[in-house]
This record gives sequence, C-alpha cells and structure tokens, in this order.
Amino acid sequence: MTAPPPAYTRRLVPTLLTATPTARRAFRCRCGRPVFFRNDVCLACGTPLGYDPELVLLRPLAPTRDPQVLRAMRTRGVGATLPLSTYRRCANWTSAAPCNWLLPANEPAMQQPFCRSCRLNRTVPDPADRDNAALWLKVEQAKRSLVSQLIALKLPVASRVSEDPERGVMFDLLRSPVDGPRVTTGHADGLITLDIEEADDVHRETMRSRMDEPYRTLIGHLRHEIGHYYWQRLVQGSRWEAPCRALFGDDRADYAQALQAHYANGAPPDWKNAFVSAYATAHPWEDWAETWAHYLHMVDALDTARSFGLVAHHDEIQYEPFTAQALHGDDAPASSSAEDLGFLAIINGWIELTGALNEVTRSMGEPDFYPFVLSRPAVRKLHFIHQLVRIEAGGRARGGSPTGTGGVADGDGSSTGAGGGAIGGGAGGVGGAVGGRPVSGGTGTVPPSSPAQQMALRVIA
Ligand SMILES: [Zn+2]
Ligand SMILES: [Zn+2]
Ligand SMILES: [Zn+2]
Repeated sequence: MTAPPPAYTRRLVPTLLTATPTARRAFRCRCGRPVFFRNDVCLACGTPLGYDPELVLLRPLAPTRDPQVLRAMRTRGVGATLPLSTYRRCANWTSAAPCNWLLPANEPAMQQPFCRSCRLNRTVPDPADRDNAALWLKVEQAKRSLVSQLIALKLPVASRVSEDPERGVMFDLLRSPVDGPRVTTGHADGLITLDIEEADDVHRETMRSRMDEPYRTLIGHLRHEIGHYYWQRLVQGSRWEAPCRALFGDDRADYAQALQAHYANGAPPDWKNAFVSAYATAHPWEDWAETWAHYLHMVDALDTARSFGLVAHHDEIQYEPFTAQALHGDDAPASSSAEDLGFLAIINGWIELTGALNEVTRSMGEPDFYPFVLSRPAVRKLHFIHQLVRIEAGGRARGGSPTGTGGVADGDGSSTGAGGGAIGGGAGGVGGAVGGRPVSGGTGTVPPSSPAQQMALRVIA
C-alpha cells in the first residue's frame, strides 16, 4: 500500500529527466561502445581516447602527420556536431600517474606541457620512493574528477604555478619522510597541501575509524581543501561575506583555539540538526569547507547518475521533500521562484537517489553509499553555495573567459590568505620541502617559498 506521489513529483521529475548533466560522465567511442572518464583507449576497438576538459568530453582520436598531434574523430550522439579539433596529450601521459587529458595542439608545448589539472601541481611525489607511484596515481585520478567538475561549473581554476601567481591555486602532493615531520593536509593562500598517504587504503581507513568519521575519501579531502580556496577567492571581502557570516557563523573567531576546543571536546551532541558533519562544527571556515565539499559531492554524483540515465523516482521510498520553507523559513510564500525550484529539484532528487543507492550498497553488505542526513539549516547553507557557484561562475560576465581563467579582478586582491599567524606550533604541513619534488610549470622549476614565508601563512586544515 503506497501513498500517492506528492504533487511536487510531477513538477520535479521532468526537471530531473531533462536536465543535462553539468559534468558528463558517460561517453561513447566512435565504434558506439561506452567508454569512461579515465580511459585513454577504447577496449573494444583500440581507438585512442583523450579527455577535453573544456568540452567536458572524452574524444576518440586519430593520428596526424605530426606524431605529437592527434585529431578528434567523428562520433554519434553527444559531440557529433563538434569541430574535429587537433590536440596533444598532457606531458603526464607517460608519467607514473598517466593522464588522459588533452590540450589544444596550438598551445605551444614548450610553454605549457601540462593539462588543466596537472598544471596545478607545484610539487609531486618522487615516484621512485616507496610506493609513491601507486599513491600519486590515485591522487591524480581524484584530482581530475575534482578539476573536471570545477571547469564544468565554470569556477576559476587557474594554476598559481604558471597562470595566475596572485589568485590561482596549486597543489603540493607530499609524502612524509620515514623519520621526518608529518605532512599535514591543509590550505594556505591558494596552496593546497595533500598528504598522499591518504591514498593508502589501510592508512585512510585507520584514520577514518580513529576519527569516528562515516566517510573519508581522497576526493573528499580535495573538495574540502579547495572549498577553503574558494572562500578566500569568492567570499572574503566580497558582497557574499556578510550573508555567509550570517549563515555559517563569524569566521573571525580564533581558528587555532576553535580547533583545539573541537579536538578536546568533540562536536556538540545535536550537531546533526545544523551541520553536514561533526567536523563542520569546529569553526565557520570548516563548516564552509565541509558544506562546499558536500555540494560538489551531491552535484557530481547526480550528474553521473543522470549521465547514465539513473533517475530515482520510486513511490516505495517515502520521504518528506524539502520545500521553499526549508530555504527561506516557515513564513516564506508557498510558490517558489524558478531558482528555488531548480535547487529543490537537486536536493530532493538527491535524497530520492541516495535512499535507493543506500539500499543497493546494503544489499552488497557494503557501508551506506551516503551516510549523511540533511537538516534544514544544512540545506540552507547548501543553497547559499549553489547560488554563489551559479552567480560567480564564468567570470560573472565581466570579461572572464568561459573557463574562468581570466579577467576576474574584484575583491580586495589580498594575497595574504585568510589571516596572519601560524597555527599548530609549526606542524610540518605547508612545506614544499618534505617528501616531494617540484615540477616544472613549463617556465622552469618553481622553487617552493621559504619555510619562513610558509609559516607566516595561516594553514587551514
Ligand atoms: Zn571503440
Ligand atoms: Zn594531465
Ligand atoms: Zn578545512
């Protein structure tokens, strides 16, 4: 016996079915067989493949007279009408972390050997050291998922190494030396440091269990840390700052003290009523980064589901859909704006989909696909991030390129990060000096900034 579907589903379901994914994840080879985001060759017909991040498309490729240059081949369906551009492969295609991304053939390789994702690296692990090669590959795979989504969302993703030294972002992918200081994952002023041991399943699962977290993944770390970067880039000093504070709390609260208190006392017992995770209660910056990561998880997983035609619409799963009142309070008018409806379709579609997927993973004896519960205040924070991403995307029609790499010059241009003062007694985090080797950004090796400079920056975990 099932209740009739609530009235909203008639409106909601067509929206979800017709919505095009932002970051497409299902592709076809010229032979018609399905091929996937990470493939560099079609396993059915042997055609080489490469990923064009600007088109959000995996393309079948043919050789040209120049061995370095490949030409896109005609496909049926998605991409059928696109120009048959010429490309070269990312310089990391032949590395220990093989990359299947493409660059336009007319971008000189001398100036920019790396793809949009790999060029964000300032330091990569030495693949000859221990099992670094395997860990590095896992990190890069997660990073490519992250970066492809950011580009598809038209968020600014310029390399601080080779494209925008003032406002870009870059990564130090580091491994702690056997007897040296531990690498700390964190963000400081456009530099994201990642402890690559998070790619080691035993290490990560041990940490997850010790920290009593329901979910801990590489892509989760990357989405969280880049959230700190976008807070600094898009919120700090902008018109978003005051409404952000009203929703997430006052970010001027002492960060080091707040974190110490969080680790000493844990999260308040009722955290689920307002936060997406226990860690989000530590400080407004952590709430922002956790919610940002959650938004990217949600949108990417929904995009993937839509790419493969998986849309949950099941009357057996009974749940209370979120309405405009969830976004604007109980006094909000019942009729929703198109903007609200778009967001509510994402949230409610997500809850339907994850309800079904949790049952699927339970059938396999695996942990829940989605071990979270969304409260109204958390949904309101997700809505804020959704609005910010939509409005800030694409350089805000102020001369930025469609890929968001140019032309954005508002804000206070601060390059000192989220504030002065080192925290954590100089935990060996930010250094380009431990366990990695600098990579060339194409214009020569970029030296890591000095330890003194690094310690002057606030590291946000
Ligand atoms: Zn094929
Ligand atoms: Zn690459
Ligand atoms: Zn954080």
